[in-house]
Amino acid sequence: MVASNGHGTTGPDVDVVVAGAGFAGLHMLYRLRHLGVSVRAFESGADVGGTWYWNRYPGARCDIPTVDYSYSFDPELEDEWTWSEKYATQPEILRYLQHVADKHDLRRDIQFSTTVAEATWDDEQRLWHIRTDRGDELTARYYVMATGCLSMPKAAEVEGLERYRGDVYFTSRWPHEGVDFTGKRVAVIGTGSSGIQSIPLIAAQAEALTVFQRTPNFSIPAHNGPVPEKMRDAIAGRAAEYREAAKWSVGGIPVEPTQVVTFSVTPEERTARYEDAWQAGELFAILGVYADLMVNPDANAELAGFLHDKIRSIVEDPETADTLCPKDHPFGTKRPCLDTNYFATYNLPHVRLVDLRKHPFRSITESGIDTVDESLEFDAIVFATGFDAMTGALVAVDITGRDGVTLKDKWAHGPTTYLGLTTVGFPNLFFITGPGSPSVLSNMAVSIEQHVDWVADCIADLRARGVDTIEPTETAEAGWVQHVNDCADITLYPTANSWYMGANVPGKPRVFLPYIGGVGKYRIACDEVVDRDYLGFRLKSGADTTCNDGVIRRVQPDVAAVMEMMAMLDLPPLETMDPDTARAFVEASSAMRPPGPDVGEIVDGTIPGPAGDLAYRLYRPPTDGPHPVVVYFHGGGWVLGNATSDDPLCRDLCVRSNSVIVSVDYRHGPEARFPAAIDDGFAATRWVADNAVALGGIPGELAVFGWSAGGNIAAVVCQLARDAGGPAIVGQGLMTPVTDLDMSSGSYAENGEGYILTAALMKWFCDHYADEADRSDPRASPLRADNLAGLPPAIVITSEFDPLRDEGIAYADALTAAGVPVQHIAARGHTHTSLTMVDMVISGAKIRAEIADALRAFFGASVPAH
Ligand code: NAP
Repeated sequence: MVASNGHGTTGPDVDVVVAGAGFAGLHMLYRLRHLGVSVRAFESGADVGGTWYWNRYPGARCDIPTVDYSYSFDPELEDEWTWSEKYATQPEILRYLQHVADKHDLRRDIQFSTTVAEATWDDEQRLWHIRTDRGDELTARYYVMATGCLSMPKAAEVEGLERYRGDVYFTSRWPHEGVDFTGKRVAVIGTGSSGIQSIPLIAAQAEALTVFQRTPNFSIPAHNGPVPEKMRDAIAGRAAEYREAAKWSVGGIPVEPTQVVTFSVTPEERTARYEDAWQAGELFAILGVYADLMVNPDANAELAGFLHDKIRSIVEDPETADTLCPKDHPFGTKRPCLDTNYFATYNLPHVRLVDLRKHPFRSITESGIDTVDESLEFDAIVFATGFDAMTGALVAVDITGRDGVTLKDKWAHGPTTYLGLTTVGFPNLFFITGPGSPSVLSNMAVSIEQHVDWVADCIADLRARGVDTIEPTETAEAGWVQHVNDCADITLYPTANSWYMGANVPGKPRVFLPYIGGVGKYRIACDEVVDRDYLGFRLKSGADTTCNDGVIRRVQPDVAAVMEMMAMLDLPPLETMDPDTARAFVEASSAMRPPGPDVGEIVDGTIPGPAGDLAYRLYRPPTDGPHPVVVYFHGGGWVLGNATSDDPLCRDLCVRSNSVIVSVDYRHGPEARFPAAIDDGFAATRWVADNAVALGGIPGELAVFGWSAGGNIAAVVCQLARDAGGPAIVGQGLMTPVTDLDMSSGSYAENGEGYILTAALMKWFCDHYADEADRSDPRASPLRADNLAGLPPAIVITSEFDPLRDEGIAYADALTAAGVPVQHIAARGHTHTSLTMVDMVISGAKIRAEIADALRAFFGASVPAH
């Protein structure tokens, strides 16, 4: 139904319906009102506050310093409101939100104690039909869900609750009048943030407290108290600057992330830094203690060990202490907690911990709880069992989009969004801090404001342009989901059974829900989408549709980080240097790389080459030999590099493929031009084949492998060996190889600038290497060979953002056409150099694992077991 809008024309009843009047809904309302659009908000609670309205359990407070956990949209609030504590209590935060609502007269547009029950898209009229649980019906052009990430409590999952005659409480729905546990025997189920905050205070009242713990959680002391001077000082007199810095930070608090990695410092320094973070009592301090904490399992285990020691030093009973030590997930992969006296509470004689892993629930009885081995009586049971996070409140509303598809059905296998803001099939629907946005991994206040501003600006813009509907495209959404997963996959987060993964709700799909790429980077992406004319959105105005389709982030996040770092260093391009200066420059840069994994043995030696000795470095796996042998040719455009210059990659290949890697040097241009490098490469291969046994190799099990110009040499060596009748080569690995020196493929045009290996640098390499007249020689451009039949099986690895991508693909195709077995590995989101960045670009590891598997397949059964 399209109602009259009271202006004599037909149209929606209101421009925007907002669901929720917490932090997000209030700000949304404020922004929309200032745009001059009509808006109606519905809130389930009887007043504003959202999470701070409902979660009134004893000890409830924020775990982000409250000076940061505040609005920035109204600068007057900075002076009007003074937080009394570093981490304010729930009543104080609720008063703050009530103050904001009063000050801006926001309540007049909010209908309280009313929940949006249904929202149905009308594609003909291009508006939403909204129905509430109290029977209100209205239409709106836009529907904004500001329903919170942690607002849908999980059901009690313990059998028998309906039988229980005592009192039952949920931390997430605490009685407004409070609860007095004096003289009561109380059970608390759950040891997440809510449990950890409430347990010490419940223990202080109760006659007896039993805590049922399924999974122990990491927690550090909040060291709460008045707002520390340094926090006040950081913002005093420069609030605008401070808030602006927060907006571009990693987590929504302006702290400079450390670049220091865990094992780069002495054990003493490490412990001192851990201790400082423990004493700071701030989640971001401990989560940011070392740069590799959330990506390197060993680094994480080091901090976990420190935290276990802390727990053991506080909790007197060793068995209880051990039960409280989290061991099943890396630190931080489940939301760590801030506490006041949590662990010390277990030293009280009337407090008991039951480990549900050892003593699972049988059922709740009339008078208490039965575990598999005892019956316990309780006057009250407190459920601190958490939420159906991030998606629960969204799919709780019956939302039906275009073509009758419901959001619940669309997200049955996990939520898919574009930017965490919108989803395909649901035009004009916006989520505030939806799945796929930084939200719960960040200071929510900052992330909420960013979303609200984006949505408000978007609505204003669309109205000004006369656009009726906005909806993301499938391509853009799939690209964003991929990017969200790429970001998560290089961290330890997906390894835990956390609510971030949906793992706390039985049957919920296991998907990493928030975006971990950082608040600042996320904001840049959202802004860029708008700047690129709403990239990835379809806009409809009357009968017209416009769409600039595309994917906003395609480069792997860690590759992008390395490129940004290099851009910041503003290094001179190699092609502006003479070869010797460029060599020295590259060598100096390489000295700063992570070294790569330990191998069993490294042997340096020389090979007699056609024009003098050639250096080699041999990498032996740490397993019993003999091993298959891979002759490795380094990259460097036939100008740079040597037998040791690809050291981390060679170590990695050696360990992963369990093969001896012999990295051989060859002569370089411009001193020794084409075909010197090829002559040396072929001679070195012959020598290695002849000396396989002495090198610890298995005779006949010889492959060649090369990266970039080295890939060119490896390919040519295979052709030469075929034509010369030997040596026998069982496989060739060509990683982002040069196969044609004419430099005219489409990928040169696409990726010739901005991805480290540039078209200009390739030209410099080629000019130093080969005369124009020689470049079509198959020994320079193996793709130009007349006949590729009879060559060894190949692995060809190409990177998406590499000028050389297309010639790699062309060579793989040509080999296939000639009947050569080829495995083509296309490294999505990678560049020419990124796969070599061992322990720096973590997303490259799975590609190198694939490469190693393919190498092992060349050798078949002869490869000894790892
Ligand atoms: P939570 O972190 O999900 O913790 C729920 C606890 O209940 C976990 O220990 C969980 O064990 C346990 N549990 C769940 N279902 C259970 C079952 N069927 N049987 C036994 N145990 C069960 O929930 P939360 O404590 O409410 O916190 C949720 C999030 O809200 C926090 O991570 C935080 O982001 C936010 N929060 C923040 C604050 C703050 O300090 N500002 C306070 C409260 C909440 P498993 O771990 O084994 O699932």
